[in-house]
Amino acid sequence: MELKANQFLQSATIALEDIQLKTALDRGTRSADKARITAMDETTDPEALRQQGRGAKLRALADLPDLLEQIETNITGRGGQVLWALDGDEVNRQVLAICREHDLRFGVKSKSMVTEETALVPYLKAHGVEMLETDLGEFVVQVDESHPSHIVTPIMHMTKEKVHDLFVEKLGMEPMGDPVDPKAMTHFAQRLLRRKYLDADLGITGGNFMIAETGTVVICTNEGNGRLSTSLPRVHIAIVGIEKVVPTWEDFATLVQTLPRASTGQRMTVYTSLFNGPAGDEGDGPEHFYLILVDNGRSNVYASDYTEALACIRCGACLNTCPVYQQVGGHAYGTVYPGPIGAVLTPLLMGKENAAPLPFASSLCGACQAACPVDIHIPDMLLKLRHDLQAEQDPVWQMGMKGFGFAFSHPLLFEAGLKLSGLAAQAYTEATGQTTVDRLPPPLDGWTNSRDFPPFASESFHDWWRKNRGGDAGH
Ligand code: SF4
Repeated sequence: MELKANQFLQSATIALEDIQLKTALDRGTRSADKARITAMDETTDPEALRQQGRGAKLRALADLPDLLEQIETNITGRGGQVLWALDGDEVNRQVLAICREHDLRFGVKSKSMVTEETALVPYLKAHGVEMLETDLGEFVVQVDESHPSHIVTPIMHMTKEKVHDLFVEKLGMEPMGDPVDPKAMTHFAQRLLRRKYLDADLGITGGNFMIAETGTVVICTNEGNGRLSTSLPRVHIAIVGIEKVVPTWEDFATLVQTLPRASTGQRMTVYTSLFNGPAGDEGDGPEHFYLILVDNGRSNVYASDYTEALACIRCGACLNTCPVYQQVGGHAYGTVYPGPIGAVLTPLLMGKENAAPLPFASSLCGACQAACPVDIHIPDMLLKLRHDLQAEQDPVWQMGMKGFGFAFSHPLLFEAGLKLSGLAAQAYTEATGQTTVDRLPPPLDGWTNSRDFPPFASESFHDWWRKNRGGDAGH
């Protein structure tokens, strides 16, 4: 399955017809959204916590270059190695080089969206290194040979019945009766995965946070797979986007409270694992520790008017609460990062021309910003992206805006236009018997593809005002 952000309209139309998807999304998004509200409301002052989290992230972004250097100094000081990768290809090449250096052939991997960006697992497979996804959702996605549809819940798009059928078909699980038992399916996958940790010589993780003052990489997981993937193999590679750094433990303490509450409605994730480097002479853990700091478009975002988008802590709350995501799911967005924040990040990371429909995939209702634990101003950024896209790319829109501006600054012309439109609408109604237009010709057909064009009033507001109030309605 190939992801294509520019095909949002076609993909969304198909997704809207998918009853199984609708069932899965209804179950998944609404329960996660409800859990978030309950968990955030439990805190003494949810809004103060949100603003504290926002402050922590914005402070970190303001000092980003220095904080990254601090991370590097601290980790190398303890025997770890820090690599910098400009793009996805460089990440993949660096991981492969480490595999070659240490003769690594099989690895276990916990969830990481950055490695989805770089398509690391298929790349390594093509070069003779097998990676097994150990997060249950990611494992299902790998068995299904598809992509995650949510940044926290990779199989938000699947019902338990569909996972059952997949396990029976691809993994030889004994079929269950009706209803299927998710717990038994989880145990089945767990038994299968447990044996593999012992065979692995490589563990790959992402990172939810990096704490600059001590050079600590943090992963938050719920299944224990992250801990097994990092403590048993002899080499651990953490692959982390540069925006995940925070200056201090105090800032981390704020964000580690909000992430699970906003994400899954938990007070804490079950496992919060911290890494500072290799095991060394006396400790447990990997012999070699690598941190790959990934740019992949982020420094462009950093230098743009959209820096705030990098404050995202990938909790998924904006996806769960978004009325568009709730209807079409993640795959329709055709990108690693779906939902409201994906509609902002994807055009910025991939190039606006490669994801032009996404900023328009929003009702601008503001639910995303209200749900966001770091109060990212997503609707403002969506609006600005729309403006940028239209201004840069659409000659019809540019011409239309110029014409509109000209008409607005020439009141007589404007009124004449309104009168003509009213007459045309009247003629149309008399000829067709319809008051609304259900199909406009190109290039205006974008409007009527999904809604009717409302009729022009037979009398303009200016005429009405003159008739009923006297004087000029003002231009
Ligand atoms: S934008 Fe906010 S709500 Fe959405 S994933 Fe990022 S942190 Fe969570």
